[in-house]
Amino acid sequence: MTTADDILRRVFGFASFRGPEQRAAVEALVAGEDVLVVMPTGSGKSLCYQLPALVRPGAAVVVSPLIALMQDQVTALRQFGISAAAYNSTVTGIERHAVEQAMTEGRLDVLYVSPERLAAPGFLDFLDRVPVALFAIDEAHCVSQWGHDFRPEYRELAVLSERFPSVPRIALTATADAPTRNDIVRQLRLGNARILISGFDRPNIRYTVRPRTSETRQLLEFLEARRGEAGIVYCATRKRTEETAKALLGAGRSALVYHAGLDPEVRAANQTRFARSDDAVIVATIAFGMGVDKPDVRFVAHLDLPKSVEAYYQETGRAGRDGLPAEAWMVYGLQDVVRQRKWIDDSSAPEEQKRIERAKLESLLGFCEAAGCRRQILLAHFGDRCEPCGNCDTCLQPPETFDGTEAAQMVLSCIFRTGQRFGAVHIVDVLRGSGNERIRRFGHDGLSTWGIGKGRSEEDWRAIIRQLVAVGLVAVDHEGYGGLRLGPDCRSVLRGERRVPLRRAGRAGTTRQRGRVSVPPADQAAFDALRRVRKSLADSQGIPPYAVFHDATLVAMVNRRPSSLSEMGEVPGVGAIKLERYGAIFLEQLDRLG
Ligand code: ADP
Ligand code: ZN
Repeated sequence: MTTADDILRRVFGFASFRGPEQRAAVEALVAGEDVLVVMPTGSGKSLCYQLPALVRPGAAVVVSPLIALMQDQVTALRQFGISAAAYNSTVTGIERHAVEQAMTEGRLDVLYVSPERLAAPGFLDFLDRVPVALFAIDEAHCVSQWGHDFRPEYRELAVLSERFPSVPRIALTATADAPTRNDIVRQLRLGNARILISGFDRPNIRYTVRPRTSETRQLLEFLEARRGEAGIVYCATRKRTEETAKALLGAGRSALVYHAGLDPEVRAANQTRFARSDDAVIVATIAFGMGVDKPDVRFVAHLDLPKSVEAYYQETGRAGRDGLPAEAWMVYGLQDVVRQRKWIDDSSAPEEQKRIERAKLESLLGFCEAAGCRRQILLAHFGDRCEPCGNCDTCLQPPETFDGTEAAQMVLSCIFRTGQRFGAVHIVDVLRGSGNERIRRFGHDGLSTWGIGKGRSEEDWRAIIRQLVAVGLVAVDHEGYGGLRLGPDCRSVLRGERRVPLRRAGRAGTTRQRGRVSVPPADQAAFDALRRVRKSLADSQGIPPYAVFHDATLVAMVNRRPSSLSEMGEVPGVGAIKLERYGAIFLEQLDRLG
């Protein structure tokens, strides 16, 4: 057994590395090589530098853009008995002095610094005089203008390669695309680095997309089955987050709100409350995002369509970092597409950019209307592949398909005959032969397509139109008012030369709930009891519950029922220090449960 394996077991309490990339990264750093790690959220990137920090002499200097979260990382490391500190603009002079002292004496294992701090005059000179185990550059995509979170300060980090040529560096990111990756290598001068890229699948996340019918009711039903779990509900606008939180409150559910318009103090307080809780729901715009490294987020729900498949992957990726079952759940309707089209059209971006945005929206729509495995579509987006996954709604309840050619022809001719300017609601009314005021005003009750679709429900027609938009046979107009036009390839369908397979609406129902986390129902009470113990231990120290033990560790305790301290020490996630601190308390609780 190598020193690294030993530390993995003894300090972190983990039985094995999370896949070959994690091991390779650790070994390369220990050997003094540079590394670039591209791994999805939740795959255990932090361990790639935390473990070598303990093997190599001196402190690991970790550059992280998220000052607000440094403290949580420090807290989590200290729980493992690792000596860690943060160094940023919020740190007082006294603390700074203590950190410098500890580093000089070689007593510190991990130091988190903001990029500004690192580049501040004098800090690099200080690092010249103390032992440095390695440099880790977290969220390394911040160095790239291609990426979604460009930080100019990150460019300064290039100096590390010249000033500390003998100190190994590791850059870490979850951002998958090749231009960003190449940019990281170039900007950070990682030309000789070992590049470790792992697959992008997040097998523990279950993907579900539902047509929007009554969103508040749908959301409440979804949440009802997930009481006692923490999760994020994403909305497109500040107003929508407030309204949704109010609706939840009205239904007896508490919810925190997070968006960029809140008072900074309220915002930070809500973020902390979310981090420290094991059952809070936060309703947020995407301002709530990067660096949410809470491992026990059990679901991410979207009430509005994200901007692109990449954005969807990023946002849903915040669920289930601990590897336990988690859910990505979304409701959407054609109205979302109309609204996003309008945003794109109204924005001041150059036409070229707008074209890219529209194409992205279309592939997302293809994902939403998929008849096959959603995971396959998602991974294909990153050039990755998988078998039908068995853990998405379309795998679990394969939608029935039917030959929708005739229905498609009806929709297309109806759009054509009404002049290609009406939205889905009106088109459906015409097809179903409604006699409402608007129809009479435009004389649409005199059209040959009026009433030809009586045989199908409104919901069926909506679903058909969404799918036609998804495959490009119908286009949403450029003015952004939701008018439908004929897509460029519609002729072959109208002439009957092309068949259109469609999925039937309303077949989905509600996917059967998964069990909560992975505890058999009979053991749920035991799991909840351990969670209560954990919560009180966490609260008394002012730290998040997961810093005491992860859910996965509690689940393993319930399943294994250790009856001695040495058996407790074998439970994954129980390292030596945590065993010493908490082992007896949890043993006693297990004993009481019988
Ligand atoms: P990332 O930064 O890639 O999103 P993290 O570093 O936050 O992921 O790790 C996700 C979770 O996985 C953490 O809570 C960590 O403790 C856990 N973890 C990391 N490596 C292992 C391992 N080898 N075995 C078990 N759990 C691990
Ligand atoms: Zn699937």
